[in-house]
Amino acid sequence: MDIFREIKTLKAFLRKKKLAQIPIGFVPTMGALHAGHLSLLAASQKQGLFTVCSIFVNPAQFNNASDLLNYPRTENRDVELLEKIGCDVLFIPSAEEIYQQKPGLNFSFPGLDNVMEGAFRPGHFSGVALVVAKLFHIVEPDHAFFGQKDWQQFTIIRQLVDDLNFNLTLHAVPTMREENGLAMSSRNERLSPENKIKALVFFQTLKLAEAELLNGKTMVEILPKLKTFAENDQDIKIEYLTLANRYTLESVNTIKEKNHLVLCIAGFVGEVRLIDNILI
Ligand code: AMP
Repeated sequence: MDIFREIKTLKAFLRKKKLAQIPIGFVPTMGALHAGHLSLLAASQKQGLFTVCSIFVNPAQFNNASDLLNYPRTENRDVELLEKIGCDVLFIPSAEEIYQQKPGLNFSFPGLDNVMEGAFRPGHFSGVALVVAKLFHIVEPDHAFFGQKDWQQFTIIRQLVDDLNFNLTLHAVPTMREENGLAMSSRNERLSPENKIKALVFFQTLKLAEAELLNGKTMVEILPKLKTFAENDQDIKIEYLTLANRYTLESVNTIKEKNHLVLCIAGFVGEVRLIDNILI
């Protein structure tokens, strides 16, 4: 695997691949890699793409300084994992390399970025869009792979790609879960073994909500009960549980006669904030 820390050298290297008409698959990450990340890389490799992974903990998308500081960083292990699965290129720039000047650009995605994560993390999606746009310009991939786990992020990146005419195909890869259902996440590394078990309640709440909705119940009817269920343990705090149109993210109250919905949850286990969702 070739490892690059500078934009210039990476671009020069990839230019040769492009001249040889080798299609490039790109998987942007913030590192602390787990099987979920690896499934995105596998999806790229399965399509026979020359696969580039980036690891960059993007300061612009953290609205909370301690969250940025505490974000897990496991570079040596990540490199080993990527070598083992046969990733072609790792791009692992410093913050100074990506932000050579303080960015002045702000993105807004009306309707998409003021709900759910956007409501609780002001500026988060502007920071995500900024770094993804930068990375797309640097790597110029033919295909880019994102996790369904961050469904709202995927929706916003799709808008970014459409509006800015990025010449690439986007792929959403299903969420990888632990055997018990817990969605894999780099943030799980910050959980004690005890809290990792408690974190399972997010997925359980989603499944319980789904069952109730399939039985004809409305979100308004079931929300109080689900919140009580989830917050039964004092270490759990739910921020939102929202049923929404999968594409517009408009919230809806019932699944009656509606297709293409997503049920999203976010909250804290102790100090650690987690998100999850299921498509309905
Ligand atoms: P992150 O490093 O958390 O920014 O995630 C990098 C990419 O991996 C994003 O597109 C995420 O949606 C995706 N991802 C994170 N967790 C999972 C998971 N459990 N299964 C599949 N993809 C994931």
